[in-house]
Amino acid sequence: MPLNTTLFLALANRAGFSAVRAMALAESLYRDGLISYPRTDNTAYPRTLGLRKIVEGLLESDLEAEAKLVLSLQEIRPTRGRTVTTDHPPIYPTAAARGKDLKPDLWRVYELVARRFLATLSPAATFGLMNVQVDLDEASFVATARHVLEPGWRAIVPRDQSETSLPDLGRGGAVEIRSIGIEEGETPSPRRYSQGALIEEMDRLGLGTKSTRAEIVQKLYDRGYAGGRQVRPTEGGRAVVEALQVHAPGITLPGTTAELERRLDAIAIGEAKPEDVIAESRSRLREALRELEAHREAIARWIRETIAWERDHGPCERCGSGRMVLRKSRRGSRFLGCTNYPQCKNSRQVPREAFVVRAKASESSLA
Ligand SMILES: [Zn+2]
Repeated sequence: MPLNTTLFLALANRAGFSAVRAMALAESLYRDGLISYPRTDNTAYPRTLGLRKIVEGLLESDLEAEAKLVLSLQEIRPTRGRTVTTDHPPIYPTAAARGKDLKPDLWRVYELVARRFLATLSPAATFGLMNVQVDLDEASFVATARHVLEPGWRAIVPRDQSETSLPDLGRGGAVEIRSIGIEEGETPSPRRYSQGALIEEMDRLGLGTKSTRAEIVQKLYDRGYAGGRQVRPTEGGRAVVEALQVHAPGITLPGTTAELERRLDAIAIGEAKPEDVIAESRSRLREALRELEAHREAIARWIRETIAWERDHGPCERCGSGRMVLRKSRRGSRFLGCTNYPQCKNSRQVPREAFVVRAKASESSLA
């Protein structure tokens, strides 16, 4: 599918960029005239775009070989997603670029956009599958092998995926049993959202817009509600959500925000009046605020105590009476310091990129 903002952020995230960073890099490439406007919901190229011409332009880029591959096709037929006619086209490269002329991160994002563009013009990838079923008394054992028949678009966006192979066992024959064993295991819990997957989920639920989703996620990080590469809520973040769920459940439901976004869209297409929509959301928020105000003290204590618990990383081993708590230095870096400061100057450094969580089971931990 051609790239809209959500898909772009998901791919960039898989390549290791946070949503906000990916957006900043895309905007920089856009300002330099190398890619089209990166905020769009469109996943279908407009007919007027002139796809062949764009591909020909890429002959001057480091993706010359991939561009030639597309130009060698009898017909260029792009994949299509949903058309949002009023919106910008899907993100595509607007000029050729070379890795040696760009900063490494900019090149990586440019390459991602350009490869994706060429892939959307390429034929499907086809795979051969072989399923083997071996019956042993009442139990059936299965194995699947997969190999590439026609790489198609996968020649342009390769994926590190080793092919599997099985011997040709034919049909209905018997095999020799070499050994039988039982393995014990547990099903893993569902994976955490990456930033990209979270943005895809927001898109699905109708939360935020292509222009705001990356910033909304970044805000969770900036305010200490979440951290880590796989988005992980802090105890403080959990406390805020739990307090809201108890006292103002309406505003925690995705449907409420999605409904508001829909009403804003209705203004844009002239089906609702701004004053009506503002009045609706005002009365909804007023109701929620009244409930929150009434329980202000209890909510504040709940969140304050949770944050205090979370910042506490156990007793100070130097003075024995203080606690080591997570603090921020004046320059913004974080460290563990003793609550008996300035009498006790015990402190520990925290790695810049680390997401520090207090383990529930033990006295303290760094992760
Ligand atoms: Zn101390």
